[in-house]
Amino acid sequence: MKLRPLVFEGTSFTSVSVTDGLVQAKGEGRGWSTTRPLALWRDFSEMDLRSPGEVEAFVNRYGDPRAALPRPSAIELWLEVQEPLQAAAQAWEPLDANGISHLTTDSNRLHHAWTLGLGPGTSFEGISMRPHRKTGKVQPHANNLGIFMIASAVHFLEAQIPMRRCETCSRWLDASHARTRYCSNACSIKASQQRKIA
Ligand SMILES: [Zn+2]
Repeated sequence: MKLRPLVFEGTSFTSVSVTDGLVQAKGEGRGWSTTRPLALWRDFSEMDLRSPGEVEAFVNRYGDPRAALPRPSAIELWLEVQEPLQAAAQAWEPLDANGISHLTTDSNRLHHAWTLGLGPGTSFEGISMRPHRKTGKVQPHANNLGIFMIASAVHFLEAQIPMRRCETCSRWLDASHARTRYCSNACSIKASQQRKIA
């Protein structure tokens, strides 16, 4: 099954500091966007929110799940996003011999994943139908990164998406296309450079 469209326009920040459970950022940030659910929700579910380095790296790449930045963002509130994602993640099996993590067939685990705030028919405040800025096509838009990650996890559950890790940086990927091995061009280039050296 294929993933449905989901538009998100985010802002990542490069100048980030984490002190006493508060994330602060300087500047306006840099825009990024997607028209599909992304596997990054599972990386967020595994993040150690007490690690300033991990928090900083996440904000550098994707931004603030609570969309407070550049005003200070309290990491404590990020737990409200992380907990349902952890519930969703436990519905996937560990990596198999081919490096694929499949959705479980265990109905108890599936039920648990769906009930922690992620039930079918859950109405997502923060998802709105509106025309895409460039194409004019009416599609669901996630209003912030936290909502985007939760809606992505729901799409992954519904579409029973197998997952694998990027062979360079270990980030989670949608493995429904068997040939995808890397999360980005940068990681694919890095891997081919390392193959040449080896
Ligand atoms: Zn990667």
